[in-house]
Amino acid sequence: MTVFSLEHVGCDLCGETSYRERYRKPDTRFWVSLYAFPVVECNGCGLVYLNPRPDQNSMAPFYPANYHKNRDGEKFKRRYDLQMTFLPKMADAKVLDIGCARGDFLAHLRGKVPTAVVTGVDYFSQGIGHDNIRFIRTLLPCPELKDREFDVITAWAVMEHLHAPSVYFTEIARILKPGGKFVFQVPNSQSLWGACAFREDTPRHTYHFSPASLQKYADKFGFKLTKVVHDDELFDGRGKGTFLHLMGRLTCVTWENHFKKNFNPLQKLALWIGKTIDSTVFSFHWEKAIGRSGNMVVEFERKA
Ligand SMILES: [Zn+2]
Repeated sequence: MTVFSLEHVGCDLCGETSYRERYRKPDTRFWVSLYAFPVVECNGCGLVYLNPRPDQNSMAPFYPANYHKNRDGEKFKRRYDLQMTFLPKMADAKVLDIGCARGDFLAHLRGKVPTAVVTGVDYFSQGIGHDNIRFIRTLLPCPELKDREFDVITAWAVMEHLHAPSVYFTEIARILKPGGKFVFQVPNSQSLWGACAFREDTPRHTYHFSPASLQKYADKFGFKLTKVVHDDELFDGRGKGTFLHLMGRLTCVTWENHFKKNFNPLQKLALWIGKTIDSTVFSFHWEKAIGRSGNMVVEFERKA
């Protein structure tokens, strides 16, 4: 288990410091630590976030060496095609991708729109594997990016990982042209996926957005919230796990039980029943149909 420092923070959106706890969950993906991180809801504006959380310097162990790999493989071509469907018509648009990895999405985009002028930023990527893509290894803000430089900015599965989304929204408002679009994908905290099924990737997901909190971010930072698409194709946003964890709670299953895969016979039966109900209830994409999927693609338009 890893040693890390925790920091208590106020709400990134409204500054309020009081909150109510939603649930606690450890790193169930890599089990870097058994510490169950509190996921809280701001008493001021309702924003859901991790508090306390590992401070910025303590995040590295939660991103193992292979975490950023395999984002650019062949299987991602379908995902890139899907991502393209959420973008406005571009022709000779200037496009920025935040968290661009090795630039494969931007290369895909240029393949479809050869006249687009593309830039990628990524602090964790060592470089770009393609010509004709301007790459800057940086977090935001980035002084190299000019005021009102871009027509379209994208960020796929990035905003929920930040320690201060407000800093990114401020910077994006600066570098996006009036009328320009910021298109990004984030999980939805107001879904079964986010609220009941324990699917948020703690502690890497530090902010858990919702249509309501995104509307408030848009209002505060000079955007119009023009689109929220409840999508299940980029990432599966179904609430699988809701009944598994419900049955687990009824039979006192702990996170440590999950880590050690050590359950008594009653717990095993209960978890099996929960899993069976999950696979029946969530076999259809009904949450997407009613607009409550755990995965959203959002469009902000920069106000004039
Ligand atoms: Zn707040």
